[in-house]
Amino acid sequence: MRNGKLFDVLIVGAGPAGSSAARAAAEAGAEVLVVEKRRQIGEPVRCAEYVPRLLAQTVKIPPEAIAQEIRGMITFLPGGEQIRKAAPGFILNRAKFDRALAGAAEKAGAEILTGTKAISREGDRVRIKGPSGDGEVRASVVIGADGPHSVVGSWIGQNNRKFLWAIQHTVELKEPAHDTKVYLGKEYPGGYAWLFPKGRLANVGVGIQMALGGPVKQALKTFKERLGDRIGEVVGVTTGYIPAGGPLPSIDEDARIILVGDAAGQTHAIRGGGIPQAVICGAMAGRAAAVSAGGDTQAFKDYLHQWRNAFGSVLDKAAEKRMELEEEWNGGDPVELLRRCWVACREYYNDS
Ligand SMILES: Cc1cc2nc3c(=O)[nH]c(=O)nc-3n(C[C@H](O)[C@H](O)[C@H](O)COP(=O)(O)OP(=O)(O)OC[C@H]3O[C@@H](n4cnc5c(N)ncnc54)[C@H](O)[C@@H]3O)c2cc1C
Repeated sequence: MRNGKLFDVLIVGAGPAGSSAARAAAEAGAEVLVVEKRRQIGEPVRCAEYVPRLLAQTVKIPPEAIAQEIRGMITFLPGGEQIRKAAPGFILNRAKFDRALAGAAEKAGAEILTGTKAISREGDRVRIKGPSGDGEVRASVVIGADGPHSVVGSWIGQNNRKFLWAIQHTVELKEPAHDTKVYLGKEYPGGYAWLFPKGRLANVGVGIQMALGGPVKQALKTFKERLGDRIGEVVGVTTGYIPAGGPLPSIDEDARIILVGDAAGQTHAIRGGGIPQAVICGAMAGRAAAVSAGGDTQAFKDYLHQWRNAFGSVLDKAAEKRMELEEEWNGGDPVELLRRCWVACREYYNDS
């Protein structure tokens, strides 16, 4: 425990957003503490693990964190139509990816306490609970990078309210594949099913919007039946929440709090992807926090402008499409609605 010690920047969560923020803040000269409630960074993995190839231009992805390369995405619409899109990218070994980011943050000078949970906050004092009991640290700026149900967000009344609920099996894959596959239809209410190849394995999952139907377990069973003998033994199971309500305000200058990644709702509300935003916005948040701890009063607004310039319009549009999907789910023509709202369909881009 670092009882009572004052840090420039305290970061809650060592996922992609928190570790990227920690690295940037430390490189900018700040004294940085990260608290991560998991004992082992990156585990258990709650992710289908796809990232676009372009991410490798922003952050070094070590070879051991890449499970396989991906060429494209095939979307299966109800009625049998298929849409193919180029989508060059990687299926990650997500745990190794998260640990590489955390390692880079430590190398830059950030201190990371694992098995340590942020509990509450009063003024600049944050209560933490770790392996050796309760303690308290002080911080000039707090970054909430603590995922979909952010405790830091709750300190400033900024919480995600809409989610996709997902369940995924990692299974044996009988034939190698080079595309991700996405399946749309009424059987996946408000969401979709996916098969993402990972070498001799595949991540096979379903995410649905719970307000529109369920249970998700049944939807996964139906999907696996559809895949038939293309898949084999289950070697891993994961579940998780994906924020789907669009971006939150993400800063509170009076409270000296910044939110980033899933905690800030920076996840794509239709597709559910959030790793690139977490990494890129994480670095922006870390730099802003370091500058702000040094006394610059503009830094919080600069962070907001920067990440909105990079992702604001795409994420806002996805949130609008999610509303459309939600409002019209129980009426009308599902194919037409899915065409209008799903990212791989031309209609999605028509009014952009
Ligand atoms: C089933 C599923 C499949 C997905 N597939 C993809 C995909 O293929 N591609 C993609 O880009 N995105 C995908 N996503 C979304 C992606 O996983 C997230 O957008 C991404 O992890 C966000 O990173 P983050 O750092 O903001 O949050 P997280 O990765 O959730 O990290 C938050 C960290 O904060 C820690 N924490 C939480 N509370 C506290 C606390 N009080 N104190 C200390 N630590 C705390 C957690 O333990 C965690 O390590 C998927 C999500 C799910 C659920």
